[in-house]
Amino acid sequence: MKKKLVLFYIFSGLLFCGSLQAQNVKFKKYFENYTLRINYLRIGNRQHDTINLVSMERLSTWAGSQTQLLDPFDNGDYRVVVCDHVNGRKLYSRGYNSLFHEYRDTPQGKDSVASFEEVLRLPWPQRKVDICFQKRGSDQLYRTQYQYYFDPDSAIRRLMQQSWLRVEATPLRLQYKGDSRKKIDVVIVPEGYGPSDTAKMRRDMMSFCDYLLGQEPFSSRRNDFNVWGVPLVGEASGITDPKKGISVNSLVGSSYNTFGSDRYLMTTHLFKLHDAIGSTPCDHIIIMANSTTYGGGAIYNFYAMSSLNEMAYMVLPHELGHSIGGLADEYVDENLSYGDMHSLTVEPTEPNITTLVNFQSKWADMLPAGTPVPTPANDEVSRGENGPLGVYEGAGYHAHGIYRPVMHCMMRDYAPFCPVCAKRLNDIFDLYTK
Ligand SMILES: [Zn+2]
Repeated sequence: MKKKLVLFYIFSGLLFCGSLQAQNVKFKKYFENYTLRINYLRIGNRQHDTINLVSMERLSTWAGSQTQLLDPFDNGDYRVVVCDHVNGRKLYSRGYNSLFHEYRDTPQGKDSVASFEEVLRLPWPQRKVDICFQKRGSDQLYRTQYQYYFDPDSAIRRLMQQSWLRVEATPLRLQYKGDSRKKIDVVIVPEGYGPSDTAKMRRDMMSFCDYLLGQEPFSSRRNDFNVWGVPLVGEASGITDPKKGISVNSLVGSSYNTFGSDRYLMTTHLFKLHDAIGSTPCDHIIIMANSTTYGGGAIYNFYAMSSLNEMAYMVLPHELGHSIGGLADEYVDENLSYGDMHSLTVEPTEPNITTLVNFQSKWADMLPAGTPVPTPANDEVSRGENGPLGVYEGAGYHAHGIYRPVMHCMMRDYAPFCPVCAKRLNDIFDLYTK
């Protein structure tokens, strides 16, 4: 039995974090080996959104890197930055996306206000800091939306006063390769399993572990991953599917037909999800949905989900491309309700698509000499092969105006990850292991 410490705060305010100079931050000087979990709500629509902090917790270990504290990728629509309260020095940062950002691009999100749960896991500061919640503007620059002053001493005192006990299940070690601070810790959360499904759940977890590590560049980096399984079940088997009239009170409340797309399988219950994970070392989350209906979804540094459909061995790596790599979809689908998320007049932040507004910041340095930009489509390349590296029109849901690196890629149609996507994934793996 582990003691769970929870602190309730409500905060608001529009303040600004100090200068964001990138310096060599020493972990032990500024942080302790605990995780600060922050639970908050993002409330709003396309015009405006606010953040309401709900609670904080201190978890038993910090699974992330102790050397790579500043995010070098500048990817994601949101970013959290932890700054020294005294001198404004930037101590820790991570970019991420959220389901709210897709909601705001749906027709409903234009005007109608909705509330979405979000959770951050940060290293526990050992001195007074400002935690800055940042949002990217239409000019692509991050600006601080809210700033929260965090004093670890008073936080601990309040946590001690408001503590209660929570039983945490011991996680299953599906693959353990060493110290979490030097490994990529992936937690598989079973969804849609009932009390009689325990044996199946464990078998499915081993399959998902194989799917996670089955494709390049994951397979070559197999020894850099720890994979954990949460051994919890819900009340009944199956996944909610509104179009089929199926409603299940599952562990983390996932559902097909998110934002009106049949195959888009997601959960909005982030607090439940992170409660299920508890203190398990966690850099990335996979939700394994107990359904054979095709579906899945993922958001950068948020979570990835796939059902157990026969395509899961491909769907899961594709979704991990989003959740771990921050990669964009390279396919075209102009009917998606949230498909307007990429403006054609600015360079998208994802590394594997370009509007040619600033192609030099993308894979220009990887192109063979003499490659025409844009590159004419080459229909001779068969599905399952990348084909030559180029700049091919049709990506990011748009048939025109957005370009991708190859004819076929995992992020388009389940071919192997292309060289651009594989490079970014390897660079991100290094962030956890170097
Ligand atoms: Zn690609």
